[in-house]
Parts: sequence; structure tokens; C-alpha cells
Amino acid sequence: MNRFKIPIAGVSMLFVHSVLHSAHAGHYKNFDVAIYMRAQEVRQAADPKWLESRWAVVQKQLSVDKVYIETHRDGAMPDAETVDAAKRFFKDKGVRTAGGITLTVNEGNRFQTFCYTNPDHRKKVQDIAEFTARHFDEIILDDFFFTNCKCESCIRAKGRRSWTRFRLDLMTEAARDLIIGPAKAVNPKVKVIVKYPNWYEHFQGLGFDLETEPKLFDKIYTGNETRDPDRSNQHLQQYQGYEIFRYFENIKPGGNAGGWVDPYGSFALDRYAEQLWLTLFAKAPEITLFDFRQMLVPLRKELRADWQGRDTSFDFDAMMAQVRKSDGTWPDDVTYALAAGYAFDRVDPVLGKLGRPVGIKSYKPFHSTGEDFLHNYLGMAGIPIELVPEFPADAGIVLLAETAGADPAIVDKIKKQLTDGKTVVITSGLLKALKGRGVDDIVELQVTERKALVNTFAAGFGPPVQAKKDILIPQIQYLTNDSWEEVSALSDGIGWPILHSADYAKGKLYVLTVPDNFGDIYSLPPEVLTRIRETLMKDLYVRVDGPSKVALFVYDNNTFIAESFLPEDAQIRIVLDSKLKKLQDEISGEELPGKEIPGWWGRKSGKTGYDATLKPHSFRVFRCE
Ligand SMILES: [Zn+2]
Repeated sequence: MNRFKIPIAGVSMLFVHSVLHSAHAGHYKNFDVAIYMRAQEVRQAADPKWLESRWAVVQKQLSVDKVYIETHRDGAMPDAETVDAAKRFFKDKGVRTAGGITLTVNEGNRFQTFCYTNPDHRKKVQDIAEFTARHFDEIILDDFFFTNCKCESCIRAKGRRSWTRFRLDLMTEAARDLIIGPAKAVNPKVKVIVKYPNWYEHFQGLGFDLETEPKLFDKIYTGNETRDPDRSNQHLQQYQGYEIFRYFENIKPGGNAGGWVDPYGSFALDRYAEQLWLTLFAKAPEITLFDFRQMLVPLRKELRADWQGRDTSFDFDAMMAQVRKSDGTWPDDVTYALAAGYAFDRVDPVLGKLGRPVGIKSYKPFHSTGEDFLHNYLGMAGIPIELVPEFPADAGIVLLAETAGADPAIVDKIKKQLTDGKTVVITSGLLKALKGRGVDDIVELQVTERKALVNTFAAGFGPPVQAKKDILIPQIQYLTNDSWEEVSALSDGIGWPILHSADYAKGKLYVLTVPDNFGDIYSLPPEVLTRIRETLMKDLYVRVDGPSKVALFVYDNNTFIAESFLPEDAQIRIVLDSKLKKLQDEISGEELPGKEIPGWWGRKSGKTGYDATLKPHSFRVFRCE
């Protein structure tokens, strides 16, 4: 498991970073940086020389405001004296400390958690919370405050409830009676934070309760680690690094204390930097780097991506120029801390210019699932998403995926939006889930059991456009002249809706057909993606046309970021409302020339287009006025 373990000899004290000291003399203007130290390392820190030499390596490469000192993981617990010594060590360095708890019995055994129906386990959890609260005024629970126990005691306690209901109830009780209550009894000043991991679609099944817990805990925290979208086993899309922070912020506004990133699964260092940037683009006030060990892992030349050497947002060579020796190599104590520090330096100057994030509101009721993680695929297609836990009745346009079907009143809520003259976009997955629930009362449409394998699309009045691959879609059946195909898939003389519209009262309902493989959204031709973006983003002042895997982050003060996750240059067209007359690159100062985009039938579109290029795995920050 510990494949990143660093040999003691690997930490050389010979290397003097005079350049780095000046680069990192001040802390960052727009966020705090924290490092998490696992209980195993805290125990080793009982040897002051061990800690001093390693801290020297970290702090010369990175400004650190805070260290989370862990008191439990997998049964490992540092003693009180060691915790106090570590606190003193960091206080002397001007670094704040907080406590950390990982509630695992054995991470190596499929993340075995505690059993919350076992009296011995319950006592242990309470003891850990009390011990930690005695030492710290702030405590964070790492990812594991859930339960995957299915022992006979848990089976009996579950009774006739579903596992989801049983575990939600069990963990809400444990939060109150084993963690927060006992911690505050020992230290009334203590603030307890629960950190939620990246698998938010499935929390309820393991007892993470996003409905009750954010009200019980003082703050929540976001697991922004998404790692590699293709090769890591969770298949998390890059956009999630932004979207999940926004989702949790919308659950506890002002109470999402920070985002958390680790370097696992980043086969190129750009991927690591991207996760840090996405967390900050989402406006995280603090970013936690997991973990102290990882910050000491030397950087290898294999982490330099193929697309480097072209002035990309993460410039490996520019970073290494600070530390490179005359023979081209770099010292052993050039570590991930340098990569984090370099990545932070790249974005801190622009973060303060960004306003409040805005996006298409999409409702995800508590404890719901369906079309898992689909929102992140849409985000990767350039559609800014704001996941919200309450139905956003005030929004002019609402996006609803299958997950929204968990609300028993969802059809009535859709109807109300439409009668109020608003727009609702539902996915084919939700349309299917609403069968027999009154959706026919709005429009007679159905998702059939038939599928079509398609690669040709009609996206407007021009000739059909081709996808690079075949895409499997569900066939939606409708009544001609009752509702209309806005975008169609075509094959052998037949066609099916990709984007479909229906009028209802003063409002408009759209159905977006989601491919069976959500990843096929990336293969939809740019013309199709443009029509989908036009529809969903009609109330935003900007959209970006071009290929998928280019994300757009929009703020309420006429600033926005376009970020490419493609390994080659991306040609994009930024499309602005015509009331905006000027577009400027906020980093280079370059003003981009725009031209009016013609509308249908020679009419004015009211939009101006600005052509731009994004380098591989790079972002640009823009301001318009
Ligand atoms: Zn159990």
C-alpha cells in the first residue's frame, strides 16, 4: 500500500533553494494551504530530528498555513506527548494546527470501517473523538465516517429497513452521540468538520447523510481528488474537481471549509495541478494536501507529460528551472511540495479577480442516485453545472437528470416551472424514470426499449454532421407536431431525438437524450454540442463552442475560465451576448477581436464570437465588458 514510502537517505539536506525561498516568502492571497499528517507519521514525529529534516524539505518549496495532525488511522494512535510536541513544533514555525481523525479499522481491507452497532467499537470511536478534542479546537474527519459493516449485529439492527435507511439513521446518531457530543463535552470550543469523499452519488448507501450531518457538524469539507479519468478505478471526470466543491457549498453555504487533493493516479504532473486549480476555481478558502508523506516524494522525470515544452499552464521545465543542476538533473529533495507550490503560484494572482461561480442549476435530492456522475460529463462538454439539494424554483432554466426522480413531487415541480414560463431540461434517464408518474400530462413522450447505434446527426439547417464513432442511444418516441426534434440522430432513413422540445403553457420542456455510455457525450460532433449548450446556457452571458473536454467556469462579474483537458491544442469560439463588446485575456492582457455571429435566416443572433486557442491541459482566464 505504502508504495510512495521515502527512504530516509532520500531526503538530502545539501540542497539550498535560495530562489524558492523568495518565491514562497509570503503566503497565498486567496486561499490557505494545509498539509495532512497521518497518525503513522505523527508517531514518527516523536523523533524531533525526523520531523525537522522533513519539514525543512516541505517548507522551502511551499507556503503552508496549517497542518492537520492525525490522532487515529487503522488503530495507529500517537500518544498525548507526541501530539503536544508536534503542535509545539508547528506553532514555533508559525503554522496553525488542527486535529484529524480517520475512522478506519483497516484501510488495507477494502477500507474496513468501524461497526457502529458494536459496543467496543462505539467506545473506541468516542475515545478517539474525546482524545482529539482535548488537544485541538478544530477536528476534521477524513473520508471514512461511514460504515460498510454487514456483521450479524448490524444485520439484526437493520431489521426491515433498507441498508441505506439503516445506515443513514445509524451514522446520524453516531455523529451526534459518539463524535460531536463527546468532543464538545471535553472541549466546548472545538469545531468539528466532516470531510466527504468524491463518491457523492453513493453516499447514502454507506450512511453519509448530506441532509442531517451538515446541520450537525460545524463545517463540511470536500474531497476534490479525481485522479485519472480513464485509468483509475473510480473513473471520475476532471470536471468533478470543481463541481463537487460547488455541490457541497450549495448544501452548506459558507460552511464548506475547503477542498482536499492527493497526488495519486496523476500520471502526468499536470493532472495533479489541475485538481488543485479546479478546487480553487470553485472558490475553496482552504486546500488540504494529502499528505505529509506525499509532499516528500521526489518528482520523477516520467511525470513530465508528452505535451510539455509549449508554455502550457503547468510548465514542467519552468518549474524545474528553479532547482535544476548544471547537468540537467535535480536534487532528490525536489518533491511534490514543489509541484503544489508552483501550481498555486500560477493561479493565486487571478483568483481574486473572479466573482461568485454561476452555472446551470441542477437539482439532486438528498440520498438520490441515477445516471451516476452524469453532471460531470456534461461539465466536461462545456456546460457549467451548479448541483443543488433543493429544487431551484427561482431559476429560469433547470436541468434535471434521473437523480431528480427521487423527489416524489418532481412532476408537479416541473409543471409549475413551465406554467411560470420557465424552461426545464430533463434527461432521457429522468423521462424513463417518470413513466407512469404523470409526465404524460405535460407531453406524451416515451423512452422505448429500443436502441439505435448512430454516428450521423442533424443539428440545424446545414447538412448532417458525423461523429467520430458510433454512439448507442435510447429511442424516444413522440407524436409529430405535438413536440419537435431540435437535434436528431439519423441512420438508414430513420431518426431519433437527441434534443427534443415541447411547449407547455408559457414554458418549454426539453428532453436531452443521454447515450447509454455517458462517455459518448464527448464524441458528439461540436455542432450538436453547440445546440445543446445554446439551449442549456441561454441565460448565461458566455458559452464556449468547440470540442468536448473543454470546460467553462463562469463567474458573476463578467469573468470566466476556459480550461482544456485535451492533449492537443483546442480551437474554441467564445460566444458572448452582444451587450458585451470587449473580451480580454486576464493573464496576458491580450484583447481578442470578435465578429458577429449570423442568426437563422439572415437574422441577427445578438451574439459575438471570439476565436481562441487553448494549449493542451491549459486554461485561460477572460474578462469581458
Ligand atoms: Zn457491524
